[in-house]
Amino acid sequence: MGQQAALTQETILRIATFVHDHQRRVGLVSPDGLQVTPFELSPEQARHGAQSLIEAIVAGRPLPAPSAAPLAISSVQLESPLPVPRRNVWCVGRNYHAHAKELQASVFKDSHADTKAWPIVFTKVPECVIGPHDDVHLPGAAVSEQIDYEAELAVIIGQGGKNISQAQAMQHVFGYTVVNDVTARDVQMRHQQWDMGKSFDTFCPMGPWIVTADEIDGRQTRVRCWVNGELRQDGPTAHMIFDIPTLIETISRGITLYPGDIIATGTPAGVGMGLNPPRYIAKGDVIRVEIDGVGRIENRFV
Ligand code: MG
Repeated sequence: MGQQAALTQETILRIATFVHDHQRRVGLVSPDGLQVTPFELSPEQARHGAQSLIEAIVAGRPLPAPSAAPLAISSVQLESPLPVPRRNVWCVGRNYHAHAKELQASVFKDSHADTKAWPIVFTKVPECVIGPHDDVHLPGAAVSEQIDYEAELAVIIGQGGKNISQAQAMQHVFGYTVVNDVTARDVQMRHQQWDMGKSFDTFCPMGPWIVTADEIDGRQTRVRCWVNGELRQDGPTAHMIFDIPTLIETISRGITLYPGDIIATGTPAGVGMGLNPPRYIAKGDVIRVEIDGVGRIENRFV
């Protein structure tokens, strides 16, 4: 039995999408994080990053063979593991108590929803997703002067389903990745619905890879964010108001979830708008988001 036979769901730990030799590829990251072994995928499969692998694994199909020897991670350009999500990224607002408190006079001021019983759910368009080290483009002062960061754990759905119960929900989690839910605060508040202020081009840095759910429990990890090296956010995911099973149950009520769907689970306290006075992102700022057991992304704002 060769290397191909060893690639089962049990041994998949980290799946990365990357560019090597001018081509998008998908591969397995080595346990030490220093190498990545590309899969043999068609260009069309590779175009969607880890999507076809997620679908194959949840369907019990054999994984593609490795197409080449392991490559040094330092020799490839990491992209979002799902560079073109199949549809909008699901996102959750006001999902950590301390963050809800810091924005209660602004973003959440006019919310009449019963947000104690139900989470706030909005989406970001798929086209705003960028890689873990790509630049985020500030839209210019005429469009927004209040660009902010939100460090978040993102859940990647494996087996799809509708009306998924909390008790079954974790069986539908394929894995996790890191997201910065970059937000134009003035635009977010201006339009009642949040999607516009959340969906500017390049406003969803994601990566550096997907860590599978057998490797880490997203309910028990830690989300941190640094702005130019200064720690701004540091929150345990156990402090979510609506935990991951509740979010999956809620979002799948009457709506089918599909393999590869992404749910950004909300941000801890410490966003720029929550500071006194607020401190929004300026040109040249570098923002790092790190989640224990998953990895880190770091993006410059230009
Ligand atoms: Mg958010």
